[in-house]
Amino acid sequence: MTLSQLVRGVVGDQRGSVNRYQTSDRHVVVDHSLCFYCGACVAVCPPDSLFLHNGFLSINDETCTRCERCVRMCPVHALSTVKESS
Ligand code: SF4
Ligand code: SF4
Repeated sequence: MTLSQLVRGVVGDQRGSVNRYQTSDRHVVVDHSLCFYCGACVAVCPPDSLFLHNGFLSINDETCTRCERCVRMCPVHALSTVKESS
């Protein structure tokens, strides 16, 4: 675990909004040109970090644990992880 990951975990715990097991420096992103809003990813997200609203998929990066279940579930590969910019 890097120092930045440790710091983020501490800050997250203080805010009470970040899962303490969140250790990856990657973020889940959605390609809206591929997503057809089926909701399959929403259904498998353990901390309920994915939301469908008005035909738009959004991700709560604060609560996402980077488990990548959603990435593996998406039938059209609209979800991927990208490395966090410093
Ligand atoms: S990586 Fe895991 S926690 Fe994050 S949005 Fe996907 S399923 Fe949810
Ligand atoms: S599983 Fe894929 S296509 Fe379905 S809502 Fe999620 S990102 Fe969009």
